[in-house]
Amino acid sequence: MANNKGLIIITGPSGVGKGTLVKKLLEENKNIWLSISATTRLPREGEENGIDYFFLNKKEFTDLVAENGFIEWAEFAGNYYGTPRKEVQNQLSRGKIVLLEIELEGARQVRESFAEGFQIFIAPPSFKELEKRIRGRATDSEEAILKRLTRAKYELKAQSEFDATVINNNLDVALLEIKKLIAN
Ligand code: 5GP
Repeated sequence: MANNKGLIIITGPSGVGKGTLVKKLLEENKNIWLSISATTRLPREGEENGIDYFFLNKKEFTDLVAENGFIEWAEFAGNYYGTPRKEVQNQLSRGKIVLLEIELEGARQVRESFAEGFQIFIAPPSFKELEKRIRGRATDSEEAILKRLTRAKYELKAQSEFDATVINNNLDVALLEIKKLIAN
């Protein structure tokens, strides 16, 4: 597995800073291609269709599920999220490193179907710090925040399932660790 990192999965609780880490990683390594997920959640301010996500309604999403259009999909905090199959396969066949930034259930599904994937769990320095970060993202409702916090507790318990854990206390340190993991 360690010699074949064509498929990298990054998972970790909501608010842990995965998005920022992934963005920096992409800036530094042009051979990495980030899969754009589909979701039924509404766009947050500033998010664009086809760039941040493919924003679908429930029917569009479940139609794609029925067509086997996702390599994995899961319900998270009341919405569906999935990785479109076609482009992932296309990029892998072109020799790109494919990066998926997905939640736990999706990572588990990918583990079943792509055993060669390398799975990294991003953990917060503490739960308290995570809550601060989730609440700091003021765009979500209290209900959505509570769902995400409950889910985060569950996800944190699963970190030993992953090939590696990186604690995101300091962004630059965490980024360096991820880069080392990918390169080795
Ligand atoms: P958010 O709503 O904050 O953008 O994402 C919520 C959660 O869904 C995050 O943990 C994110 O990693 C996860 N997620 C995003 N895209 C996908 C996907 O395609 N599949 C799965 N399983 N999870 C995803």
